[in-house]
Amino acid sequence: MLPSSLPEKAFRSHAPGYWKDKNVSEAEWNSAQWQLKNRVNSLAKLEEHLVLSEEERAGVLLSGNKLAMAITPHFFNLIHPTDPDCPIRRQVIPRIEETWDDPDEMSDPCGEDSHMPVPGLVHRYPDRVLFLVTDRCASYCRYCTRSRVVSGVGDQELHTEFEAVFKYLEAHTEVRDVLLSGGDALLFSDAKLEAILKRLRAIPHIEFLRIGSRVPIFLPQRITPELCTMLAKYHPLWMSVHTNHPREITIEVKEALERLSNHGIPLGNQSVLLRGVNDDPDVMKALVHKLLMSRVRPYYLYQCDLIQGSSHLRTSVSKGLEIIENLRGHTTGYGVPQFVIDAPGGGGKVPVNPEYVLNKDSHHTLIRNYEGKVFDYPEPESAKSANLFATGANRLSMTWAPSAKW
Ligand SMILES: *Cc1c(COP(=O)(O)O)cnc(C)c1O
Ligand code: SF4
Repeated sequence: MLPSSLPEKAFRSHAPGYWKDKNVSEAEWNSAQWQLKNRVNSLAKLEEHLVLSEEERAGVLLSGNKLAMAITPHFFNLIHPTDPDCPIRRQVIPRIEETWDDPDEMSDPCGEDSHMPVPGLVHRYPDRVLFLVTDRCASYCRYCTRSRVVSGVGDQELHTEFEAVFKYLEAHTEVRDVLLSGGDALLFSDAKLEAILKRLRAIPHIEFLRIGSRVPIFLPQRITPELCTMLAKYHPLWMSVHTNHPREITIEVKEALERLSNHGIPLGNQSVLLRGVNDDPDVMKALVHKLLMSRVRPYYLYQCDLIQGSSHLRTSVSKGLEIIENLRGHTTGYGVPQFVIDAPGGGGKVPVNPEYVLNKDSHHTLIRNYEGKVFDYPEPESAKSANLFATGANRLSMTWAPSAKW
């Protein structure tokens, strides 16, 4: 049984105490194939393990033609057996709210399809690309920004043209960074993934490879020593994992992350700000502390994209700012992610920060610290005199109204 009295900061095991089939052997549980084969992917399987609410039951029945439901036994066991508001549960069990219409929501909120020069390749930023190698994941997140293609049951299908992508990358010498995502590239066999990495490494101008994956969290059994050894042949290779709540970082997950790190793979984490999951400064602080303990640097905190059916999971931008405000200065700087909004319609990631500059003119910058104390930084003489000769447009004085709090 999940020890609910343990603080969120404790690393606990998957505790297969309420996995229904008590005859599962240790070897089966620890096998990625067994985990994938035994995913919870139907109403019947779900109800073998949990008592569902009406909202969830209806959600499961209706999710079949939008984003499939699938939950690995490992991740499923983190769901609290009786708490209907369990933060793990909200991430993977569909709810009826997914079918609600919201005029602000979109099927492709980040405008990826309009930035695809070749099917499966998103080229939005000058020097780096997003390579969608598969539409499958180990489990499906209800708020997935790519649910239009991910899981294979939605309106659109992903038809990545691998050869055309490689040709495009060979021709585009400005691309120095390739991010493999999907879906989840770590669901490929070692051999299939290696074939892609080898092909990319053969392109001389590609300096940097990275993989965005939630497999270390959903399916830590997949992070075998053999996989890590293979990945290490293609350095510099970095990985961004995806965790939202401290309970996701179990002992098994921590060990999987350490295996990756021990093979020289620098790890970052991306979180999505989700109502009822991590829209709480204490929860986020516990999460970033567990990430640091697992040698993962919090990278981005995303405002939830305007993906169709996500209204029950989205929260305000102010909540994200409040979380950052409660981290910066209050805890290890390495533990503070950059809060971003992926601009609706296709503007890319935009950083959003609490305001620490209260007033700025050519002579002074008035700042406040994490405690709300105000300080004045005088500009150097050289900058002041340069400013004297500057004309109209670039002598802009920037002023922000300080909030009542400061
Ligand atoms: C997020 C993203 C990247 C990578 O952005 P970084 O800020 O460098 O991590 C690249 N391409 C697309 C389309 C993305 O959405
Ligand atoms: S793991 Fe990533 S791609 Fe897969 S469903 Fe979750 S958010 Fe979407």
